[in-house]
Amino acid sequence: STRTAADEVNALLASYPDFPQDGILFRDLNPVFANAQAFKSIIDALVTRFSGTFDAVAGIEARGFLLAAAIGYAADAAVLAVRKGGKLPGTVLTEEYDLEYGSARLELEVGQLPAGSRVLIVDDVLATGGTIAATARLIERAGYVLTGVGVVLELAELDGRSRLGDADVHTIVSV
Ligand code: AMP
Repeated sequence: STRTAADEVNALLASYPDFPQDGILFRDLNPVFANAQAFKSIIDALVTRFSGTFDAVAGIEARGFLLAAAIGYAADAAVLAVRKGGKLPGTVLTEEYDLEYGSARLELEVGQLPAGSRVLIVDDVLATGGTIAATARLIERAGYVLTGVGVVLELAELDGRSRLGDADVHTIVSV
């Protein structure tokens, strides 16, 4: 097939008005993940785009985990799980941040990678950018270097990119 990763996302993306609350147009990428060809296509696109630039891939709970695991396997890279607050044991770093709806806390265990490791952050949707900005702070506080941000879908009107500094951001589709 000659369908690009962007074609696959545009064909399969589902949108739900007023979920999980009034005024939010929720973008559901599960139909993309549930289509084997589309899933392979988005993983391959992100692996190719960031080839050679990262030692580890950090997935943000929960949908970012699906991407990070596949990218880590395909790229022979380590996988980091950035989790919601209160779920990780041992010594953890914490960042609080505001969401498009509500607020949240993300955490990362320390000491998993050598200092200076190059990390690619991945998630399904870039909305306000608060989630990825908080993850970027965790990566840097842990002693790693953020070398890229890969996202399947960017909600451009929310201008999340403006919160990510000079990071190398790649999104498969921008709406
Ligand atoms: P943000 O921190 O605003 O960039 O939000 C990003 C996180 O919230 C991602 O993990 C998304 O899964 C989720 N999210 C925020 N807004 C939406 C939306 N309109 N549709 C689907 N997911 C969203």
